[in-house]
Amino acid sequence: MIIILKNGTPKPRVEDICALLEKKYGVNTHPIFGSESTIIGLVGDTSLIPVAEVEMIEEAERVLKVQEPYKRANRKFHPDNTTVEVGANRIGDKRVVVCAGPCAVESEDQILVIADAVKRIGATMLRGGAFKPRTSPYAFQGLKAEGLLYLKKVRQTTGLPVVSEITNPAQVDMFMDFVDVIQVGARNMQNFELLKELGQIRKPILLKRGFSNSIRELLMSAEYIMSGGNTEVILCERGIRTFETSTRNTLDISAIPVLKSLTHLPVFVDPSHAAGHAALVEPLAMAAVAAGADGLEIEVHHDPLRALSDGPQALTPPIFEALMKKLAAVAQAVGREL
Ligand code: PEP
Ligand code: MN
Repeated sequence: MIIILKNGTPKPRVEDICALLEKKYGVNTHPIFGSESTIIGLVGDTSLIPVAEVEMIEEAERVLKVQEPYKRANRKFHPDNTTVEVGANRIGDKRVVVCAGPCAVESEDQILVIADAVKRIGATMLRGGAFKPRTSPYAFQGLKAEGLLYLKKVRQTTGLPVVSEITNPAQVDMFMDFVDVIQVGARNMQNFELLKELGQIRKPILLKRGFSNSIRELLMSAEYIMSGGNTEVILCERGIRTFETSTRNTLDISAIPVLKSLTHLPVFVDPSHAAGHAALVEPLAMAAVAAGADGLEIEVHHDPLRALSDGPQALTPPIFEALMKKLAAVAQAVGREL
């Protein structure tokens, strides 16, 4: 349920109303002081609360039942876009943020060389997996803690905030220290124990859509994190499974405007895992920006042939540089900047 308050309702009065609602109905309240209006979101079992009773509050302009099961992620609860600050980036604001780097951290030299290159070209965040969830147990599993250490070092030398994927709730303490954004990969989007742990911390989460999950399920996973109190969630479309085999996954471009209408959270797109081929990354990245993505996560490797994972979809630095130029033009065409 949400209560839209009359314009100009003073803050102390909003707090009084929240206290009254919590006491009377045993729900949690979330007042949002937006640019246009003040809204109180009610979370908990609101099914038995009579709308007519709530409408008796003098300052209530309108009372609405929220049908969707996601509440804190719902745009109805929070009409303004949420921005998530990561270093100097304000994700969800006018500037489209590009996070680039290798699929996996392979050595200290490798991550340093790639970080320097993507920074020079204009990326403002660095990606690199240390714990790699691979389909095959015989494939490279990542450098694990050693990889995180290299990321931390590179963060110090380049100043780039780093993003890395967590695979297990036991890793949370380590990630708190080593990375700026914790990525939840497609395979763990519904690892609810992990999501609950991530709700308890205060660090931005990049939540990737599972390849067989609906948009609603993605939002429910965001809700798991947010209901714990961690509201800094960035969603990421990375392609879904379809019958089509010419791409690794099918990039669901429509997920971008759909998410933008349903939620206030920023939306990233990962064209690399959607495409599976370097040659397809450019058009998908441009389409994502044109469709309203707030940021991109792109795999870049200085030597894709020797990459220990996902070489075929990695852009070399010169190709990434050419893409960034095109992205700047697309961003400008749709009223954004890069
Ligand atoms: C990744 O970003 O390294 C990754 C494994 O992506 P996804 O979880 O989307 O497959
Ligand atoms: Mn990868």
